Formats: sequence, structure tokens, C-alpha cells
Amino acid sequence: MSVSSEASSSPMAEQPAPGVTTFKAREKRNQGKMWWSNGIFFISMHIFALFGTTYLSPATSIDWRTALLFFISWQLANFGITVGYHRLWSHRAFTAATPLRIVLAAMGSTGFQGSIKCPIHDPYAATNGLWWAHCGWIFHKPIYPRMKLIERADLEADPVVRFQHKHYIPIALFSGLVLPTLIASWGWGDAVGGFVWGGVMGRLVTWHCTFCINSLAHWTGLQPYTEEVTARGNLLLALLTAGEGNHNFHHAFPKDFRNGPHPADWDPSKWAIYLLHKYTSLVPSIARTPDSAVLQAQARVHVAQADRLVASVSVDDMPKPVENLPVWSRAEARKRHGEWVVSKNGERRRRVLLVLEGCVVDVGDISKATPVESSCSSQTASNPFQHSRPCLSTPQISRAAHSHPSTRATPPARLLTKQPTLAR
Ligand SMILES: [Zn+2]
Ligand SMILES: [Zn+2]
Repeated sequence: MSVSSEASSSPMAEQPAPGVTTFKAREKRNQGKMWWSNGIFFISMHIFALFGTTYLSPATSIDWRTALLFFISWQLANFGITVGYHRLWSHRAFTAATPLRIVLAAMGSTGFQGSIKCPIHDPYAATNGLWWAHCGWIFHKPIYPRMKLIERADLEADPVVRFQHKHYIPIALFSGLVLPTLIASWGWGDAVGGFVWGGVMGRLVTWHCTFCINSLAHWTGLQPYTEEVTARGNLLLALLTAGEGNHNFHHAFPKDFRNGPHPADWDPSKWAIYLLHKYTSLVPSIARTPDSAVLQAQARVHVAQADRLVASVSVDDMPKPVENLPVWSRAEARKRHGEWVVSKNGERRRRVLLVLEGCVVDVGDISKATPVESSCSSQTASNPFQHSRPCLSTPQISRAAHSHPSTRATPPARLLTKQPTLAR
């Protein structure tokens, strides 16, 4: 079974080149022939887990030490996949000394997701639907057209990787199934519970947590760093995957040792790598994206979101440049003040016009909204053009206008005079 990863991904790489094969077509090609042995093993593990947790070692009567063993077995595999398989060997997000690589290779083997050298699962499987992205791909022999493009010399040169690949099956079976059984058997006499929970259930939960990164993390969550890919940041998935759920940042900056760059992002894998780097010689170097690049990415997303927001506002509701407003004479403005009009909410009301900085503004709707505005209205409703100064200061008017989109667009006209205050 192969591990999910985005070893060759970058935001740019996910853009379909014009006139070239689309993602969808490329993905469809990746659905090779049925992989019966893989599929049968996958289904058998689920059937046995159901049987084991119902009859052999029921969840309702599980020994707390067995439950703890299950949790530790799951988390060790989780960190092995996340820190080792993914961030170290897939992305070279940090360098690791031999002892650490040995430990990570052993932990990763426990995940039952193939050896470190196994072909990676195509990161763009999300375009084939949730089921395919999650585990549908397991039932098909993979076809990876871009596999030959991926640099693998470093993997071949790593003796830890070569050894783990050569002896993968016995290592995985021992660390993933036999060892939890032995620990529970020798420790507290619960060999069956150790096998069912520490072994089979530990493997299943690790699988599905990892698979969720390909499926749910491309389906629901936030996109603060890039909207050019389907990857999203999802706290729940981050909690389940030792930080991998911060998937949007990872697709934006796949080489970074962090998946959640903010200190508050739940990313224990990042913390582990950083602590090993800072306080030991096991992690000589880490790859970290400059803060300025992260800020630029966030700014791009904000600008795109703002553009979409502006585009969603009706043209009638948008503030209009003063130069584009029709020009009224004072006589026309006086004539229109006090006319009966229909508000946007359908009520009939009299038009209440104010002249502000050379613009005629209908404050009829505002005048009902707040006491401040009402008091203004009472002073101005009779004839605002008789006042030598506006009764509201400009900031007050501006605040009121901004709180009423319907009147925001209302400088309906500008006055012929350039006089900044009320016309006399
Ligand atoms: Zn990746
Ligand atoms: Zn992804």
C-alpha cells in the first residue's frame, strides 16, 4: 500500500497548462487495473477489526493499558508517517542524523503504508472525488506518468531507506502487529486485546487519518495561503494527523518543515522537528519559508477575496466617483428636496437632501436610524439649504452613511457650486 504525499507538488504545478491535458483526464489515467491483493488485504483488515472489537476484545470492556497501547501505537505510526515519510523523505523539509532516520523508518513501517521508496500516491487525486481520494485508489494499481520526473537518487543513497525497503514486510508485520501483541501479552496478559487494538485498530486508524489528508483536507477547511489548489487547513484533521491537517500551507510551501506556520497552529510534528533541531544534533538543518513570503501569500489571498466581495456588490450600491455624478443646479436641488419618494424597503417618505462637500446627499433613510441623525433631520428637513453649515460634522455623516449601504451610494448628484459646505 502506498503512502499519500505531495512530493512533487507546488502551487504552480497544479495549474493545467493551456491546451494540455487537464487534471481530470490525467487523474483518470492514473486509475489502473484492479489491485486485488491490496484491496482484499484492506477490506480484510476492516472485517477483522469489526469482528475483533465486537467479539474478541470488545471496546466496552477494554483494559485501560490496552487502550493506552492502541493510542501510542497509532501515534507512533502517525508521527513516523508525518515526520519521517512525508516531511523528511518526501519533501526534504529537514535533514536527520542516522539514528533519527532509523527510528523514523521503524515508526513509519508501523503505519503499513509501504516502504519509504514505494511510489507516492498522486496528490491530485482529490479531483477524482472524495471516495477515490480517500481510499478508492487502494483498489487500483497506480499509474504515475510523472514518477520518472521525481528525483529519487537521495532515497537510493540512504542506507536506512534501502534496508527498510529490502526488509519492509517483516519490519512492518513485527512492529505493526506482533510487537503490540507481545507487549500486551507480557505486560498485562491481554495478547488478544494487544493484537486487536494495538495492532489492527492502530493500523486502521493510522490509515484513515492519513487518507483524510487526501480526501477531507482537500474538501473542507480554510485556504489562507493559496486558493490555487484544493488543499485546505482543517483543525480537526490537524488534531488527528499530528499537524498534517494544516494542508493549505503545505501545498503553498511544500518544502517547509512546518505545516502550520503560526505558533497557534496545531502542528506537533513541527514542534518535534524544531525541538530536535534546537536542542540536539539529530536535526542539523530545517527548511523554513521566509515570513515575508508567507505574508505575501496571505496578502494575495486577501486581495482575491476582497475582489470577489467587491464584485458581488451591486453596481447601484457601490460608491460612485464624484466626477461621474450628474450635476444639479441649486434650484433643482431645492425643487427635489421634500419630494415624495419610495425607499428601498418600499416605504413612502419625503426626500431629505443635504449638501456635503459639494455633493447632494439624500439622508431620508438615515434620519430614522439614530437619535443623532434624527436631530439633524429635524434641523434640516424644512430646508437644508438655509443653513450656513451642516448640522452634522462630516465624520458623523460619514459614519451614518457607511452603516446604510442603501444611502451610501446616494450622493445622487453634485452641486454646481464647488462650495464645500451647504449652499446658501
Ligand atoms: Zn506533501
Ligand atoms: Zn494534498
